[in-house]
Amino acid sequence: MAYPSAYYQQAEQILEQRRFENSVVESEREKEISEKVSGAAELLKQLAGTVDKLAGIILSHDPDIGQKVEKLKDENLSMQDKLSELLKANGYPCDYLDKIYTCKKCHDTGVYGDVRCECFHAVLKQIASKELSKSLPIGSCGFENFDLKYYSDAPSPALGGLSPREIMETNLRYCEKYAENFHVPCESVFMSGGTGLGKTHLSLAIARKVIDMEYSVVYGSAPDLLRQIETEHFDRKEGSDGVISTVKECDLLVLDDLGAEFNTQFYVSCIYDIINTRLNFGRPTIVNSNLAFQELAGRYTDRIASRLQSMKNLIFSGVDIRTLKR
Ligand SMILES: [Zn+2]
Repeated sequence: MAYPSAYYQQAEQILEQRRFENSVVESEREKEISEKVSGAAELLKQLAGTVDKLAGIILSHDPDIGQKVEKLKDENLSMQDKLSELLKANGYPCDYLDKIYTCKKCHDTGVYGDVRCECFHAVLKQIASKELSKSLPIGSCGFENFDLKYYSDAPSPALGGLSPREIMETNLRYCEKYAENFHVPCESVFMSGGTGLGKTHLSLAIARKVIDMEYSVVYGSAPDLLRQIETEHFDRKEGSDGVISTVKECDLLVLDDLGAEFNTQFYVSCIYDIINTRLNFGRPTIVNSNLAFQELAGRYTDRIASRLQSMKNLIFSGVDIRTLKR
């Protein structure tokens, strides 16, 4: 996938930051152990001196270099064993003073073998997803401030005798669980119902939680994301497929307000391509629409309708909350 070169620089910076933060923790732990565990400070000092000793042996051009290096290695190992024992005896894990790596595979260098490590690709995907997700304000939307009191508790025959509040409480619990247990692959969700019933709020609350879990998440309105894909498609420069690829490949896509975009052939085929590709690869998508399922079926192709129908359907009911809040 072709990302702008600035994303690669940002990714390198994030890895550098990880290395720095891990080294800070390592130093803090070393200081803590030196102070709290008696005998540890001396061992740590000796261990730190091993490199100098090794250099001294090599530079000495002594005929017994091999032997001396072996001896030093043995001494080093025995000091490490002593240190582990000291740690254990003082209630610390044996590896408490080991080097810390966020990615154990590439040791946070971003390179494994001759190629970019998967952790580097994951960081790139997060950067690209974040770049695309600027059209919706995620800050104020959490599960904690989703207020059920705005939904009527009067049972409605149209809702099978349930009240909008009961239905919305079920939706809220479902979304909380969904975010908590999020993984790839997992179920996709189709939320439908009138304007101002909390679909965007709950989807963004899921997105926020999933971002905290370090997944790559794209959230945006269908008109906005489709416009960006269209621009990219028609301004085609060599290798410019960043937007469509990110939308298709991110861990979670929240496609808000489906049906609000212009009804063009290009958009319809894009929507199918996105939803279908993601479902085929088991990548979860949350689709929101103010249109009822029948309206969407009339507007789009049967193929899109049947893909949406295969998702977990959540119906939102009640009265426009924005009106109530005013
Ligand atoms: Zn890695």
